[in-house]
Amino acid sequence: MRVLRPLEPGAPGRVLRGGRELLDLSSNDYLGLARDPELARRAGEWAARYGTGARASRLVSGTLTPHRAVEEKVAAWKGTEAAVLFASGWQANAALFPALLKLEPQAAVFADWLVHASIHHGIAAGRTRHTGFRHNDLTNLDQLLDGAEASARIVATESVFSMDGDRADLAAFVTLARRHDALSVVDEAHATGVLGAGGAGLAAGLADKPDIIVGTFSKAMGGFGAYVAASRDVCDYLANAASGFVYTTAPPPPVLGAMDAALDMVPGMDDERAHVQVLAARLRDGLAGLGYDTGASDTQIVPVMIGGEAEALAASAALEEAGVLAVAIRPPTVPEGESRIRFSLSAAHCEADVDRVLEAMAGLR
Ligand code: PMP
Repeated sequence: MRVLRPLEPGAPGRVLRGGRELLDLSSNDYLGLARDPELARRAGEWAARYGTGARASRLVSGTLTPHRAVEEKVAAWKGTEAAVLFASGWQANAALFPALLKLEPQAAVFADWLVHASIHHGIAAGRTRHTGFRHNDLTNLDQLLDGAEASARIVATESVFSMDGDRADLAAFVTLARRHDALSVVDEAHATGVLGAGGAGLAAGLADKPDIIVGTFSKAMGGFGAYVAASRDVCDYLANAASGFVYTTAPPPPVLGAMDAALDMVPGMDDERAHVQVLAARLRDGLAGLGYDTGASDTQIVPVMIGGEAEALAASAALEEAGVLAVAIRPPTVPEGESRIRFSLSAAHCEADVDRVLEAMAGLR
């Protein structure tokens, strides 16, 4: 059984554990916004103006003006017709797939093997035929779709994979989906705020976008809650049919205030986005120089493949001893034998921080 060990926030890019400062490469706060004063200020302002709770679920009387305002801002940023908010990314995925499968109970669903647990959960809850396709292997997906005799098909992937830090080829994914008349779903949790023009993610810039884009405010956006961006029809349908939307209280105003402030700031944070990727490249190069394998990482998420679970845990403990917080990722989050240390970089870090991580990693050799 794992123990929940508390932390306190420290200086930017750092945390305190038991009073000791650790360089933090464990969080998803990629732009350093989780403690941004403007997000906190607007959260407070909206709490004062609209209250701390939304009082009801969205369809009852919980839809407040700021819900609609934030949804419109998300849709404009993502370049979709509409957007609908969910309580969290987990809840969005867990609610989305069963809602889609209510329309087409016999649909066949194909998701990349490495998609997030919440997508697996949503598909399983929809009680349909689910076939995983080999990670980022669109030839495999093409073959599976060719062989699928189903009334409808749904394909799902992520734009940036959370444990590998690699990207999907979304343009090819959408083209393939169209060719097979499949509904395409892309989770942009780790790309939102970080990649694409204005940080809108990797799908936003495509001429032909995925049918449904899921994203979260809990990572680079520095807050909490999530969205589905899609056509007006899809969003209206989800608002009426997705259990995890219909039967839960609407997101509270302070959370909406933080979302709103992040949506104002993030499009203009190109320098921070570029900085994070420079740091990630420096970390990958340094790790390669030390003989470590960082897999297919090509983003702010940089795994170091360790292999055994015990070895990954030992590496994480040794890093913490050296003042660096980076967690060991092990089964069932990743397959057996693929345990790793996951470093995630933030705009709050600097080059000297990366060099400190490299020094600590050299010490493990
Ligand atoms: N999708 C992906 C790809 C994720 O990595 C995560 C979070 N780990 C989620 C969804 C869930 O998002 P949230 O934390 O907002 O529930």
